[in-house]
Amino acid sequence: MPDKLIAEIENRRDALIALTQDLVRIPTLNPPGDNYLEICEYLANRLKKSGFQIEMVRAHGAPGDSDTYPRWNVVARREGNSLGECVHFNSHIDVVEVGRGWTTDPFGGALIDGKIYGRGTCDMKGGLAASIIAAEAFLAVTPTFSGAIEISGTADEESGGFGGVAYLAEKGFFSPSRVQHVIIPEPLNKDQICLGHRGVWWAEIETHGEIAHGSMPFLGDCAVRHMGAVMHEMERSLFPALAQKRTEMPVVPEGARQSTMNINSIHGGEPVQPEGYTGLPSPCVPDSCKMVIDRRFLIEENIDDVQQEIHQVLQTVQSQRPDFRYDIREIQRVLPTMTDKSAPVVQTVAQAIGQVLGRDPRYVVSPGTYDQKHIDRIGRLSNCIAYGPGILDLAHKPDEYVAVDDMIDSAKVMALALHQLLCPTAQTLD
Ligand SMILES: [Zn+2]
Repeated sequence: MPDKLIAEIENRRDALIALTQDLVRIPTLNPPGDNYLEICEYLANRLKKSGFQIEMVRAHGAPGDSDTYPRWNVVARREGNSLGECVHFNSHIDVVEVGRGWTTDPFGGALIDGKIYGRGTCDMKGGLAASIIAAEAFLAVTPTFSGAIEISGTADEESGGFGGVAYLAEKGFFSPSRVQHVIIPEPLNKDQICLGHRGVWWAEIETHGEIAHGSMPFLGDCAVRHMGAVMHEMERSLFPALAQKRTEMPVVPEGARQSTMNINSIHGGEPVQPEGYTGLPSPCVPDSCKMVIDRRFLIEENIDDVQQEIHQVLQTVQSQRPDFRYDIREIQRVLPTMTDKSAPVVQTVAQAIGQVLGRDPRYVVSPGTYDQKHIDRIGRLSNCIAYGPGILDLAHKPDEYVAVDDMIDSAKVMALALHQLLCPTAQTLD
């Protein structure tokens, strides 16, 4: 056990708390993408002090990028003293909306009973801070090492990562010639290694009708009733079939160890008026109804079959309703990904978890996607995991927090992993 490295992390407890608080106090809400430049500059200044070379990368032309809301990313690289492999920690800098129900200041970063509260503490500024402290501690006790360390703070993970990791991957930042190991400190708990995620297929279904006066609905054709028939058919045939499809992927929570579909939104008829509008609706038969579906699929499933199931539902309804007309449009697709347990980054982090926590890790797969998809598909780098502090269930909720002890333990695991991967001759540290 490299005691010196462990002690170095423990000595940095106050620094870890302060760093996490600083990051939480920069409100990087997405949408719209607030303060990305500010947080990237903060990270750049911090990492420069430890000898990192900084690249600031704006994702020009990415969805959401504008002069008002530029999609900034920061990539910091610290070269070792000899050739070797590069370990990259990637964290997203954006956080989701605050929502209701908070009893603490969402951007205050209050430290209460060993927990730091605020939007993004758990998902995932706590993980970002832990990775920085791990790298700083490693550099302090390991003046010579081979290879390189990279730390990136990237935009827009919460909205698909196109202005963040996807953009960087397209520019070659995750090519296997540059980076060999990627750890994404998403909040999957300090004793779990997340190997990947299920697939996603989002689509919008629109049913068509005909507008008429609402007092004589027989003169029109109600698109909302057509959509009702679609929902009825989904309940009858689709949802029971999805529940039968089980996976070998170790997805947590266990309820997600099967195919699922969420009806994300549904709207038909007159637009919803802004809050405060006091007028009454006018009587119309809706000529359009739109539904957005969010289908999550398994490594055992094929995207073509996933689409075909939805077409089957629509065709069944069409066979029963003579006037039924519809369109379907894909919104996004993400294929499932799962890193092999024998991959070097998995083995290394597993061993470090054993050293720090005295137990074997639990291997899990995320029910939702995260930026690993871009690293795998665009970057062509499959030696990638998510590992970081925090309880996933707290993400996006009111009074989100991260426990300082969990950040410390994760930082120890990350630092030991760096030692293992970048000090091949196994220098003695104590
Ligand atoms: Zn996240």
